Amino acid sequence: MKPVFLARMRACTACRLCEQRTQVVVGTGDESARLIILGEAPGRTEDEGGEPFRGRSGRLLFELLAEIGVTREDCFITNVVKCRPPKNRTPTKSEIESCRPWWEQQLSYFRASIVLTLGNTATQTVVGHREPMSGSHGNPVAIHGHVIVPTYHPAAALRGGNSVVAVMREDLDVVARLMKERA
Ligand code: SF4
Repeated sequence: MKPVFLARMRACTACRLCEQRTQVVVGTGDESARLIILGEAPGRTEDEGGEPFRGRSGRLLFELLAEIGVTREDCFITNVVKCRPPKNRTPTKSEIESCRPWWEQQLSYFRASIVLTLGNTATQTVVGHREPMSGSHGNPVAIHGHVIVPTYHPAAALRGGNSVVAVMREDLDVVARLMKERA
């Protein structure tokens, strides 16, 4: 990302989430990667450390990604909302729409052609439908030159146990197949 773009994002005050954040969590990873991962919003660990998916959810996610040969360095990972909502609540529609230009510009800058969306908020924001994750997970959707693959948020897998993890594994197999086809 260009320094000017990064500086603008880090100084953003477009919604009220700027008031309680420690910092804007812009995302980390390889900007030339084929895979971009979009979650919902930073939690406390991410707000403090400045990197997305560094807590328990992130550890589970990257354990599952390792099974298809993807490491943190092989992808770019960020969220559709860049500042932490108080008490980790779900971002409001207004906050999500205020933040939309940042991840949309990231998608247009990056080479990534496969986008893994984690959970309902990220998926519904990117794909633009209201279908629940139970119906949309694992089904690739083509949007603006990218292939979107929805799956559950790893926080849901931490709550829901092995059955959700098993579904995520199947969805990540779809990602692995797409990456192979587009190599
Ligand atoms: S959440 Fe997004 S739109 Fe709101 S202040 Fe942070 S960067 Fe700006």
